[in-house]
Amino acid sequence: MLKGYISPYNATVVQKLLDGGAVLLGKTNLDEFAMGSGSTDGVFGPVRNPWSYSRQYKEKIVPRSDSEPENSNWVITGGSSGGSAAAVSAFTCFAALGSDTGGSTRNPAAHCGVVGLKPTYGLISRHGLIPLVNSMDVPGILTRCVDDAAVVLGSLAGHDPKDSTTVQDIFQPFALPSLTDVSKLSIGIPKEYHAPGLSSEILAVWSKAADLFKNAGAKVVEVSLPHTHYSIVCYHVLCTAEVASNMARFDGLEYGHRSDMNKSTESMYAATRREGFSDVVRGRILSGNYFLLKQNYEDYFVKAQKVRRLIANDFVKVFGSGVDILLTPTTLSDAVPYVEFIKEDNRTRSTQDDILTQAANMAGLPAVNVPTALSGRGLPIGLQFIGRSFQEKQLLTVAKWFE
Ligand code: GLN
Repeated sequence: MLKGYISPYNATVVQKLLDGGAVLLGKTNLDEFAMGSGSTDGVFGPVRNPWSYSRQYKEKIVPRSDSEPENSNWVITGGSSGGSAAAVSAFTCFAALGSDTGGSTRNPAAHCGVVGLKPTYGLISRHGLIPLVNSMDVPGILTRCVDDAAVVLGSLAGHDPKDSTTVQDIFQPFALPSLTDVSKLSIGIPKEYHAPGLSSEILAVWSKAADLFKNAGAKVVEVSLPHTHYSIVCYHVLCTAEVASNMARFDGLEYGHRSDMNKSTESMYAATRREGFSDVVRGRILSGNYFLLKQNYEDYFVKAQKVRRLIANDFVKVFGSGVDILLTPTTLSDAVPYVEFIKEDNRTRSTQDDILTQAANMAGLPAVNVPTALSGRGLPIGLQFIGRSFQEKQLLTVAKWFE
């Protein structure tokens, strides 16, 4: 729908980077309208994970079969901001921006072995960011280390009159202190994040990280976020409902693609949207309109909003009980080969992966992926830290200690 489109104005985050003296190198690939967890669904084709070409991975993989082309083993970046994660991972830039509605910055960061920060909702302006789910979207930051993420955050955060959901408080950019003593920290391990499909390798890395904190004197406690397992269906209803509404602006009149089919205004609208949107986008518009039908609105949309509140309240309770930071995996497994990823129903697969990341969006909390280890196949594994609202400094300080 927006192929070749050049925006007449800069997003606030872009303008702030330019004002701060940053050199912008270009745009990066992603899933169409940020819908997905693979970066396999964009108009420019799928994004290849640079780790596919690393010595570690190439030495470990067993060629699938003689008949398949040699490059069939390359792995996905995760998504939806996979191009940004790949660009940082391949050392082509210092930092990249992504968006994070349900995990789209943290998921590709984990698969590409980089830091991916989803800031607190309302800390960074969304002006100029194409909306997916307005109440969950945040611009995300991808860098190679936690200190760099703090630098970029410092230049982006703060109130913007063009985004009424940004908070008024003055944001003080910070440099991260070197934490030497973690003994006053309480780290929560949410038991529901032992999700179905979590690989044994990731589980082992997660336990090892918890032990590291324990051995350094931190209090490590098991906590419960009991509504976690409703998050996938809840997110699905809220996301598609907002997509149905957000995508209404693409009608072929104001901007973007316009079909040549011009027998009537209605047929032009329909053809424009049929030609301009992928199956994934059209599927979400259809689902969303179903949930928003008069007879379904209360049963689906209103109920999902209530469930979202329960999910957010789980975090309020846990942080209220004295836990400072939650430690969880970011993804269920390391990156899978593209040929495997597309064999499955993409949409089902991406919804499963999001279980570890999307609850933080529903609660508006800051969360960061930190690269941790390499899997048996020589691919990155990341862990996620989730912090209290607007406590980015504490979150990143702990992430830096761990890094
Ligand atoms: N995978 C989720 C989705 O497809 C999240 C996407 C995102 O964070 N932009 O909706």
